Amino acid sequence: MQISQNFDGGNIEVVSAESAHDIRLNIRHDQDSEFYQWFYFRLSGARNIACTLKILNAAGAAYPKGFENYRVAYSYDRQHWNRWPTSLANGVLSIEITPEQDSVYFAYFAPYSMERHADLIARSLQSARCSLEVVGQSLDGQDIDLLKISSGGSTPTKHCWLIARQHPGETMAQWWMEGALEWLLDPTNAQSRALLERCTFFVVPNMNPDGSRRGHLRTNAAGRNLNREWAAPAMDAAPEVFVVREAMAREGVDFFLDVHGDESLPYCFIAGVEGLSGWDESSQAQLDFYKNRLADLNPDFQTAVGYPPKAPGEANLTMAGGHVGHHFGCLAMTLEMPFKDTTATPEPTVGWNGPRSKALAHSCLLAVGDYFDSKVSQ
Ligand SMILES: [Zn+2]
Repeated sequence: MQISQNFDGGNIEVVSAESAHDIRLNIRHDQDSEFYQWFYFRLSGARNIACTLKILNAAGAAYPKGFENYRVAYSYDRQHWNRWPTSLANGVLSIEITPEQDSVYFAYFAPYSMERHADLIARSLQSARCSLEVVGQSLDGQDIDLLKISSGGSTPTKHCWLIARQHPGETMAQWWMEGALEWLLDPTNAQSRALLERCTFFVVPNMNPDGSRRGHLRTNAAGRNLNREWAAPAMDAAPEVFVVREAMAREGVDFFLDVHGDESLPYCFIAGVEGLSGWDESSQAQLDFYKNRLADLNPDFQTAVGYPPKAPGEANLTMAGGHVGHHFGCLAMTLEMPFKDTTATPEPTVGWNGPRSKALAHSCLLAVGDYFDSKVSQ
């Protein structure tokens, strides 16, 4: 019996594995950081053996509530990820399973590897609508990819920015990006063609390639939480944010969506930047319009549960949404999807997953078009 994690996005430490009934594991911390929660590992040589896998340090994870009522993602073929129940007792997360095959993978959520990211960029570039700018390099020397999606027409368009995976363990955010890019670049889709006549999209499918490859939950190679770096990013600590901020300043921003996952809340929801000092009725109407339209378009999204809005003047300008909303005065939002499942529309076999994240992206893009058609955006 073997446990391994030395692959793209892998994360686990084996404490002891003397008996199949008592496999003791710890999740590794992000580099130079207290954060941890993402795990991804392979169990092999345990076919038809009743195993108990115990994550000993679950209680000290960044969001311990994320492990309450949690069902782990597992896969035999690395394509389809199903869910399996876990139990939480005395701060230890246990998975009792008898693998049906020689090799099985477990992960906090269906992984999205840097190899898949490279495939996504290369495939997107086969479309004449798509161009690439490498805006910089991460601390580990990986490219920061910015895709521009445009109809190529000469009429002025709204500049819409979509970014994902500032928090690398939130892999649903990049599944969302895969859905968004496929939808925008589908030559047979009349809706995306119409949208691209009015909007140009600037897309950063992965803000944090180093954290993604290293199997981090929340930080880059220097232990920085990128979504707290937007006020004054330094090139030697958070170059990912520095270079994307520069590109935004150059191109302008009329619409901004930062895509994330939430460990604890079993809902899809949007957080606005109500705490900005310039927030007014018009800003509220724009946010409400977008959220309500998205809820109409996709029952997986809802508006009843989310983060409580910040009081006036309390906006966090170190976060991407706060920075962009403040600096560009446009509709700026954070989309959260669950690690668990949606409460009103559950799919217990798979939980929230890649395909559902991709489908939500389609609805989010349709809502962008409706937003710019509406009176509130004028
Ligand atoms: Zn996040």
